[in-house]
Amino acid sequence: MNEILLKNVYTNGKRCDLLVRGNLIATIADSIDAPGAEVIDCSRMAAIPGFINMHTHAAMTMTRSAKEDTPLMPWLQHIWKIEAQYDKEILYWGNKLACLEMIKSGTTCFNDMYWGLDVASKAVDEMGIRGVHSYCMLDNGDMVKAEKERRALIRDFEESKSLSSRNMFAVSVHAPYTVCEDNIRWAAMFAEENNLLVHIHLSETEQEIIDAQEKWGCTPVEYCERLGLLSDRVIAAHSLWLTPHDIELMGQYGVTAVHNVNSNLKISSGYKFKMEELMAAGANVTLGTDGCGSSNNLDMLEALKTAALLQKAWRKNPAAIPLDTLLKIGTENAAKAIGLNAGVIAEGRLADIVLIDMNNSWFTPNYDFEANLVYSANSSCVDTVICDGRIIMRGRKVEGEQEILDNAAACGERLMSRIR
Ligand SMILES: [Zn+2]
Repeated sequence: MNEILLKNVYTNGKRCDLLVRGNLIATIADSIDAPGAEVIDCSRMAAIPGFINMHTHAAMTMTRSAKEDTPLMPWLQHIWKIEAQYDKEILYWGNKLACLEMIKSGTTCFNDMYWGLDVASKAVDEMGIRGVHSYCMLDNGDMVKAEKERRALIRDFEESKSLSSRNMFAVSVHAPYTVCEDNIRWAAMFAEENNLLVHIHLSETEQEIIDAQEKWGCTPVEYCERLGLLSDRVIAAHSLWLTPHDIELMGQYGVTAVHNVNSNLKISSGYKFKMEELMAAGANVTLGTDGCGSSNNLDMLEALKTAALLQKAWRKNPAAIPLDTLLKIGTENAAKAIGLNAGVIAEGRLADIVLIDMNNSWFTPNYDFEANLVYSANSSCVDTVICDGRIIMRGRKVEGEQEILDNAAACGERLMSRIR
């Protein structure tokens, strides 16, 4: 069985040896001998669990920097115009580019909301990371379209059964305001019957709340409860504009909220994410980047830093979101949400490990590793990435990187020539 020995690595607050056997962390001890194992000298490195990006649209790498400094609605119109011109090749290289970028910034798993399961899962298989794919239902209240969306989701779900274990599948409801009532009820039932997660955009903007009050006489969260959608299967991206009753409901049902801090800031959706309140109510709090159309990159370390700075700023409390809590929202809480045996460095867990290079100014002096990681370094400190027991980046080199950059750039040219 494949073995990797991390020699003298700093992890969980001390130096030790760590042995990966197959796809698991087999042993962590002061000193391990493993003849035949591939040995990595980690005397200047730290091991952390791979980040889990809990809300993104991977193939939106192809919309990166396509429209800047624009209000939400005209921005969205432009992005939709671009996305309407996607073909399978553009989707494929967009996904490959996203995987490459995630690996280089220490992400080993992502929760995606998009379409094109065949090419997205192919990209994940080839790149060696994990993906939770979905079919994103979006019918805008059109009953004919609604029926088609249900059939398309079932088709993808059936197809997902033959994919490798690094590809998972979730039901996705674009948002309460873009999916009809029948389909939201159906999504809840289908997810429960088939033990699937439900990925949804929820309470992202203030306007959404105003519209919901007019249309349904309640908040989007209350509306989802009314339709039977709320449960601990639900992964609610944004969850930004919440009333105390919304927070109570999300805690009661054990919903997972995903903070997409950079996207929210950039498209001016808001910034007072109720992290402490959600946690206190019993909801699970995680972190995502959102797609590259709005947040421009897929860098979880950058998102962690912004999230922490913002909580401290608007709460006027430097003690808000201590480092251990912060790192959990990027790893452990996310693993819990998707039922993945990862998110911590411990024996018996999946070997989804990121090696951080500490031989640089950002980690000197190194009084507090976690503080240096989040507040001082940037993701170029990610040296090596192991996912499912396989090394997928070593010394910042990912196989096929140049080919991905060349093809994604060519796809971008083609895409822009179609919309001009
Ligand atoms: Zn999104």
